[in-house]
Amino acid sequence: MVYEEFLIKYAEIGIKGKNRYVFEDALVRQIRQAVKPLPGEFTVFKTNGRIYLKASGYDYEDLIEALQRVFGIAYICPMVRVDDPAFENIADAASAYLKEVVPEGCTFKVEARRSVKSYPMHSMELAAALGEVILQRVPGMRVDVHHPVVTLHVEVREGGVSLYAKEIPGPGGMPVGSNGKSMLLLSGGIDSPVAGYMIAKRGVKIDAVYFHAPPYTSERAKQKVVDLACQVARYAGPIPLSVVNFTDIQLAIYEKCPHDQLTIIMRRMMMRIAERIAENSGCLGLITGESIGQVASQTIPSLTATNEVCAMPVFRPLIGFDKNEIIDVAQKIGTFETSIQPYEDCCTIFVAKHPVTKPNLKSIRKSETHLDDVIEEMLDKAVETAEVIWCEPAP
Ligand code: ATP
Ligand code: MG
Repeated sequence: MVYEEFLIKYAEIGIKGKNRYVFEDALVRQIRQAVKPLPGEFTVFKTNGRIYLKASGYDYEDLIEALQRVFGIAYICPMVRVDDPAFENIADAASAYLKEVVPEGCTFKVEARRSVKSYPMHSMELAAALGEVILQRVPGMRVDVHHPVVTLHVEVREGGVSLYAKEIPGPGGMPVGSNGKSMLLLSGGIDSPVAGYMIAKRGVKIDAVYFHAPPYTSERAKQKVVDLACQVARYAGPIPLSVVNFTDIQLAIYEKCPHDQLTIIMRRMMMRIAERIAENSGCLGLITGESIGQVASQTIPSLTATNEVCAMPVFRPLIGFDKNEIIDVAQKIGTFETSIQPYEDCCTIFVAKHPVTKPNLKSIRKSETHLDDVIEEMLDKAVETAEVIWCEPAP
């Protein structure tokens, strides 16, 4: 059966009271974005707390797959619309629909709702009457109100009646753009793309920053990060990626600071630069892929030292995840294969043999004073010369 319309059900945004329209509008925008690259004609509109998508000339699998990446969608329901709500019309459409889509001889029940209170039948009456008609007209159907194979939903609303029997799960979460924007520190590793995905799932738009250290890190390593940003963009929408040239800063740290503190000081510089770029572009927070204890720079004292240099909140959605759990998500969202490509990372090139795992804040601050003469200028330059690459959703 070729569906001409889909009912889009949303979950959490339904509970947002007076701000509800902000969430609904963000969801409508995200759905429009998601279907734009697909062949076919689409219109998305909302009426009375419901979002509908009209579609023609499209590929069903591709459309569902695209919608399953739109955060905020709880269920995608392919539906049949009956314009004139007279009972006979609903009965005809419902029996024709079930004949076509459900296996013969299966159990069913009808669930009816009406938001048009002037409709001549109550919900219960409508459901019972439709059940009768279906029993007569659709061969082999049996009623089972407790565990039916098929539940036919009937919604009588202003503008017509919706009939649907399938509820395809969406990704949940909240529509991107409904909770502001944050800056993702995106490396070429496994963790940070997953972190970006998780925060986008909560409705946060994503900008990203990558620290590049040419000639120690290659163009290929940079391309890998662009590829990852494009993959995260399939969920988060287009991502502006700032590529920061970090070489001079890394060399200066290497030259002037104790080597066992290199990683921590480098991480602090990254946070400072990321925060400045974030402020300039209206971001409300920073996002990293850190997880407690994963490496020396992610012990709690190390995280404390990294955290100290910025005033913006730092979101670390993977903080309590094991590596295996992170890998599961990376595989699910399609970033894993790219992440494991073996290209050098700027952090691994200047890393000490025995980095501190319990950095002493006073000592770190003191080491950083060795950079006092040059660092402000270097940070400014890093921000000013960052190259912005727009990363569109990967096909
Ligand atoms: P990932 O898998 O995300 O690279 P990781 O396990 O390699 O993480 P670290 O290298 O300690 O961990 O980095 C911790 C976090 O710092 C990363 O998740 C990322 O958010 C950020 N980060 C590290 N290196 C870079 C970089 N070159 N550019 C941008 N962000 C970075
Ligand atoms: Mg890394």
